[in-house]
Amino acid sequence: MKKTPARPSPAFRMTPQRAELLRALEGNKSHPSAEQLHRRLKKKFPGVSFATVYNTLQSLLAIGELAEVRIDRSRSRFDPCTDGHAHLMCVECGAISDLAVTSPPAAAGAPRGFKVLRCNVEFYGICPACGKKAGAKEKTLCQKKKRK
Ligand SMILES: [Zn+2]
Ligand SMILES: [Zn+2]
Repeated sequence: MKKTPARPSPAFRMTPQRAELLRALEGNKSHPSAEQLHRRLKKKFPGVSFATVYNTLQSLLAIGELAEVRIDRSRSRFDPCTDGHAHLMCVECGAISDLAVTSPPAAAGAPRGFKVLRCNVEFYGICPACGKKAGAKEKTLCQKKKRK
């Protein structure tokens, strides 16, 4: 399992901004968006542009030190862990969590000769925190049903 993008390849030119971005990503399990990373970087480097953050993310993706997670349809999210694990996303708050895939689904029914290169496993649902908030609403609905 690749842990962090701590040792980028020589093709990756290191700058203080880039080093800070790597620190922000290291061990980060929240699957941040480019916007979130830009906001975090601006705290230390107020002049850093979004393009710098975006381009750095693209370089890290290109050298395989970062994975792009597309489970969130509204924006790309980034993951320093590139071992091909699956993701769960809460449709209420957008929180993404990791899920270890013990056996990826087989491409049963794929046309003969189709070479599978990769597979994304995505789960959508309601996280425990959002589930608690919605819990009260559900209870009232259930009670109404019972009265019928
Ligand atoms: Zn949630
Ligand atoms: Zn992940």
